[in-house]
Amino acid sequence: MVPLVDSHCHLNADRFDADVDDVLDRARAAGLERILVPGWNVRSCERALELADAHPWLDASVGVHPHDAAKVDDASWASIALRGADPRVVAIGETGLDYDRVFSPIADQLTNLRRNLALALETGKPAILHCRSAADQRDAQDALLAELRVAGVGGGAWAAAFGERPPAVIHSFSGPLDYALAVLDLGLAISFSGLAFRRGEEASRDVAARVPPERLLVETDSPFLAPPGAPRSRNEPEWVRVTAAWVAEARGEVLEGLGGTLVAAYDRTFPRSRRRESGDSG
Ligand SMILES: [Zn+2]
Repeated sequence: MVPLVDSHCHLNADRFDADVDDVLDRARAAGLERILVPGWNVRSCERALELADAHPWLDASVGVHPHDAAKVDDASWASIALRGADPRVVAIGETGLDYDRVFSPIADQLTNLRRNLALALETGKPAILHCRSAADQRDAQDALLAELRVAGVGGGAWAAAFGERPPAVIHSFSGPLDYALAVLDLGLAISFSGLAFRRGEEASRDVAARVPPERLLVETDSPFLAPPGAPRSRNEPEWVRVTAAWVAEARGEVLEGLGGTLVAAYDRTFPRSRRRESGDSG
């Protein structure tokens, strides 16, 4: 069986509460060896930690999504930031910018992004970055790149904290090739989801061909962004194989060879401070 990872899977969403154990059984049967469960607000961060306790092969991240930027007050942020040091937490986020739906005002999104980036630098855990512009636009991507540069990503402080590891991950990649090359130049990793199959995302194929193997990730963003063949009603981690096969094809590789590369890139990007057993405690 091809080993696979899901670098971004919201098993902490309400829609998985009733049958998360069955979902994880199907994921295991499909070859998944790593799943990262990202938080987006206080409650989902706590749930991600609970899941990592119940299933030691899962990893968690804590942070605030751009959609929730205006809803998370300073006290809530402080409680999330405290969790940054938790050994179950392997990354900070998801955070980022969403100039498509703009569920939070852009000024709040920027403030939120900056404090999530600061927490990533402080903890030495990579930031998980959501970045979406409206159709045919790239303003969010350009703004994110500017913010990364202002934060000093690629510079000495980040190099001291991260060494050769990626300081951040572009999750569910969306955007033009030159933006991808710019974030790769800053040392970031790139993760592909079912979004890559949608109209308007055609550049993703070129990007997938050019990401260095040690910074190449795949994800489902479950329960969202179902790739072709997956149920639109609720995506699940087992469907990451569809996106992984697409990435392999874009790179002129075979999935059988790419699986090990993906697991190695995951472990390099999200090293565990406390190696937990790889088996599932059930
Ligand atoms: Zn997400």
